[in-house]
Amino acid sequence: LAEPGCSVMETHEVGHAWPVPRAEDDKYSQGVLGVAAGSATFPGAAVLTVGGAVRTASGMVRYAGPAADVVRQRWPEVVATGSVGDAGRVQAWSVGPGIGTGAAGREVLAAVLDSSKPVVADADAITLFAGDETLWDARDPDVPLVLTPHEGEFARLVGQRPVDRVAAVREVARRCSAVVLLKGNTTVIADPDGRVLVHPCGHAWPATAGSGDVLTGMIGKLIATGMEPSPACARAAHVHARAAELAATGGAAESREPGEAAPVGAPIGASAL
Ligand code: AMP
Ligand code: MG
Repeated sequence: LAEPGCSVMETHEVGHAWPVPRAEDDKYSQGVLGVAAGSATFPGAAVLTVGGAVRTASGMVRYAGPAADVVRQRWPEVVATGSVGDAGRVQAWSVGPGIGTGAAGREVLAAVLDSSKPVVADADAITLFAGDETLWDARDPDVPLVLTPHEGEFARLVGQRPVDRVAAVREVARRCSAVVLLKGNTTVIADPDGRVLVHPCGHAWPATAGSGDVLTGMIGKLIATGMEPSPACARAAHVHARAAELAATGGAAESREPGEAAPVGAPIGASAL
């Protein structure tokens, strides 16, 4: 961490950083996010990714995929269609959770890349990128791309688990010309230019199935407002961690001082975020 260009995020730096809607805002300035997630096998991934965007004040969420009915039932404010091509105008895409790693998932990712909008690629989208050079060729390098792997997905991208996490993420970000967010108890966010942010979660409440899907929607919301990818990742990682803590511990977490140990809470699932 003592390396140049690497900074550890302090809670007070990002604690109040989620953009609050201003009087002059409208749904477009609040971010119109496309979500391409979920499948018949994993409809929950669609619900959770969309939820991460809806519950962090997206201006509008447009869902594209086979879980449209389930998404509509859970989130009536979402415009849901079957395919990326029918989704209408969006300002960014969150893609990947639950889309599968077969031909259908590949088609979804290729369609999202074809839109030339900023993309947050997670989960199956990362696995697809790892196994298919032509997807990298399909990508416009001038359009922002964020990759949000956990350690297993990161290992698929580079062929091995990260040993020195900061150095490994920085190298992948440079090589992929993408902002890379490596998940875990400490989240490492690297820009292609070498800058690195490190966010220590402070507890392990987010370690539950589906919480990464929620994060993908949250990052997407911020990028859809035009925020630069790496501050968007940093803010989302922080608020995601706090949301998990609040959901688990209720008001006890709110009075916690920076650096103070998190209180003991009750188990939660990702849908509580
Ligand atoms: P995923 O593996 O895609 O579901 O993402 C898991 C989410 O939980 C990410 O936001 C991780 O940073 C977070 N996470 C996983 N394990 C831990 C942990 N031990 N402590 C804190 N956060 C974690
Ligand atoms: Mg995941």
